[in-house]
Amino acid sequence: EDLAKTSGDGEVVRYVRYNPNSGKTLQELFAHLESDKLGFERLEEPVYPVPQRKYFMDPHLDDVLLAFPGGSNWWLRDEWYEGGGVILQDKASCFPAKVLMEGWEEDEGECIDATAAPGNKTSYISALMQNQGKLHAFERSPNRYKTLERMLEKAHCTNVDARRADFLESNPDSYEYSKVTRILLDPSCSGSGIVNRLDYLIDDDTEESDSKVERLEKLASFQLQMILHAFKFASAKRIVYSTCSIHPEEDERVVMSALKSSIAKERGWGLAPKTSVLPGWERRGRPEEMGGDEDLANGVIRCLPEDKTNGFFVSCFVRDGTGLWPRA
Ligand code: SAM
Repeated sequence: EDLAKTSGDGEVVRYVRYNPNSGKTLQELFAHLESDKLGFERLEEPVYPVPQRKYFMDPHLDDVLLAFPGGSNWWLRDEWYEGGGVILQDKASCFPAKVLMEGWEEDEGECIDATAAPGNKTSYISALMQNQGKLHAFERSPNRYKTLERMLEKAHCTNVDARRADFLESNPDSYEYSKVTRILLDPSCSGSGIVNRLDYLIDDDTEESDSKVERLEKLASFQLQMILHAFKFASAKRIVYSTCSIHPEEDERVVMSALKSSIAKERGWGLAPKTSVLPGWERRGRPEEMGGDEDLANGVIRCLPEDKTNGFFVSCFVRDGTGLWPRA
């Protein structure tokens, strides 16, 4: 059987994240891909669309993310995928964990993934923690929680304490979370940025009958609540908020409301500057949605299909003295 045949469904690239938690090495993965059975050749530079039987390391995540020809669905039957040695994950969906874990040191503390299922980002954070220490993962939906459990097992994540629970009901002052320094918030959103749904599940509690405006308002208010709750964790110093939406209502505007909140002022939370939020990524936020402030807009990331990713948004809050605030 020709495993390397692709479905040719129009995607220009299929991203695959190497999972070090599997205990296998990247060199072993290269050897597998370049074996006679698969016959892939690694390119030194990116080429789009990725040519048949070629792959390369993604330039922004060159230690973990591999780029293959679009529609490479043979992966689903590959032993590396089945054994959790690789995870099929869109490039933009890798950014939140990467930004969250910038500068992480092994003995820093613990992390929270507040909205974890299906667990792609959880497993990446776990890998960035070298599968050590503790990552608390929350998932509210019973069905999605089951998916999360399966994913974490398949991805060999042994440092994750997953629970079926609502993050908004967690007690930020409890001893259990007293060592938490970093929190990922990737809450339910409209999913308006998703092009290829193979590796992503969208969830929201809004009714079909809601108008688009009402729906976005409900989502934005829930998203803001999640950020304000995360601001309360006593030892937290870095919080990433991301969506797979391209609507400013769920992106820059939510970030602005969070920055203007009284809890942000009380606890000293500001927006991380561009220098600590993937500075090599060119597409940044929309200044017109952030009071015309270029520095704030440069602090956040946007992704669009023309960047060879799903539509996506990533922002990061800090309280280490480098944070930016809206002027007025
Ligand atoms: N981060 C996930 C990944 O990369 O695989 C995707 C997360 S998905 C966009 C949002 C998830 O948050 C859904 O599974 C939803 O059920 C869950 N969720 C929504 N509100 C929540 C809450 N208050 N507490 C915990 N989980 C919540």
